[in-house]
Amino acid sequence: MLNRKNKLFAKKKISTYKNQICTIGHLAWQEGLFPAYNGNISVKIDDDLMIITSSGTAKGKLSPSDISIMDKSGKLIEGNKLSTESFLHLNIYKYTNAKSIIHTHPAKLLALEVKNKAIELSKLPIYEAKMWACVLGFVPMLEPGSIELASAVSNSVNNLINLNKNTINLGAIWLSNHGLVSWAHDLNNALNLTEELEHLAEIDLFSS
Ligand SMILES: [Zn+2]
Repeated sequence: MLNRKNKLFAKKKISTYKNQICTIGHLAWQEGLFPAYNGNISVKIDDDLMIITSSGTAKGKLSPSDISIMDKSGKLIEGNKLSTESFLHLNIYKYTNAKSIIHTHPAKLLALEVKNKAIELSKLPIYEAKMWACVLGFVPMLEPGSIELASAVSNSVNNLINLNKNTINLGAIWLSNHGLVSWAHDLNNALNLTEELEHLAEIDLFSS
């Protein structure tokens, strides 16, 4: 009986989080953070399970059936083909207290990197830049979806946490020439951090 109750509870929890992913995907798409099939979104359900947008889904027009369930080993439990960045998400959950992760290809941050060859938000002479630059780590240019990228993210997350303990709860990694991955305790805060960093990139572009 208890087991059945637990299963029902887990099912309800997964359904609630799937709906939250659909909502946040649409919101971020409206902000231009998820053009076409770019990026992915995940939520950690418990120590064994994670849900993540399936491969090739449009984040602005998600339905719950576009979100897959995977276990902590990276095995698909339910749903369509897993996102190629699933292991990157799993590695972040492994080393942080994150409950939600958003991976985007933000146009202004990318433009800044293309223009200046590097993203150096801490050099911006505004208060917010100092505040947010210290939660941002970096990895070099590596093939999207590769194991090399997922393990470089693990290293970068651990380095970032050593430098700033708060990033165990809220942080982001810039994937060079590719995009941003932000984590937080919930989806709203993961999106907020993405917006903050993209906003700083906009200021940098406007002012240079
Ligand atoms: Zn990507």
